[in-house]
Amino acid sequence: MRAVILERQGEPVRATTLPDPEPAPGQLLLNITACAVCRTDLHLRDHEIEATKLPVVLGHQIVGIANDGRRVGVPWLGWTDGTCRYCATDRENLCLNAKFTGRDIDGGFAELTVADERYCLELPDELPDDQAAPLLCGGLIGYRALRFTGDATRLGLYGFGSSAHQICQVAVHQGREVYAFTRPGDDRTQTFAKSLGAIWARASNELPPEQLDAGIIFASAGELVPQALKALAPAGTVVCAGIHMSDIPSFPYDDLWGERSIRSVANLTRKDGEEFLALAPKVPVKTTVTTYPLDHVEEALGDLRAGRFEGSAVILPTTD
Ligand SMILES: [Zn+2]
Ligand SMILES: [Zn+2]
Repeated sequence: MRAVILERQGEPVRATTLPDPEPAPGQLLLNITACAVCRTDLHLRDHEIEATKLPVVLGHQIVGIANDGRRVGVPWLGWTDGTCRYCATDRENLCLNAKFTGRDIDGGFAELTVADERYCLELPDELPDDQAAPLLCGGLIGYRALRFTGDATRLGLYGFGSSAHQICQVAVHQGREVYAFTRPGDDRTQTFAKSLGAIWARASNELPPEQLDAGIIFASAGELVPQALKALAPAGTVVCAGIHMSDIPSFPYDDLWGERSIRSVANLTRKDGEEFLALAPKVPVKTTVTTYPLDHVEEALGDLRAGRFEGSAVILPTTD
């Protein structure tokens, strides 16, 4: 099969040919039709988080046709032990021995992959492949972060990329007010956020006109944490939704005082996936997509790093 591999972190990924994967008992063999690009793929490529195996096929938002004929989604959570104290308490996202797709298990920037059937997600028929793929990490981990904001009415979204542009639509659908924060001078993304229902969109170093009940940080810049804290009303929460963030600068305790809190969101449970995939067509979440053929994964990662597209990048392995 054709596949794109990361051999050394910090260096470009490259297209190559690998032996076709063989499904073990309990695994599905998938013909991949789409695989969306996540910032975690870029963090692995850029060596901002550690790889656990090299070479590795990145990509963990996979849509494919299984060898039993079903169309399924393969998310980041690829395997858990089912027995550790987190699995035993409905927190498989924190499983001590979890294996993640596109890091510990070869992922979806390829023509074929194998996946443990128990962690594959049913996909709503309404969603075409390129629309379904970006939901599988950006959408459903973003949804997990949104849940952790409780009933926050005024919601700030910091870093308006793949995840935020989906979660903005869900939040507006739920009747919340969305305040979008972008890099200073990024007028194009601010306009994009307003087109998706944000009532206010400005630079991340500006304060919103009203204090916010919660903020979700999707970007990896640690300085956004004290900035988001400053925008919060008492009892508000800052949720950090990314796997990697640069160091958080110190800030006055006064900014945390008033029962404000900061928390992270890690990974997903299968229940998050089922809930979000049932909700997405009802909103409906419309994902803005830029597509690339398989040989152009490095270009897609570069465009993500540089912020050259709005919304989500999706690799289509079946096109040239
Ligand atoms: Zn476990
Ligand atoms: Zn991801």
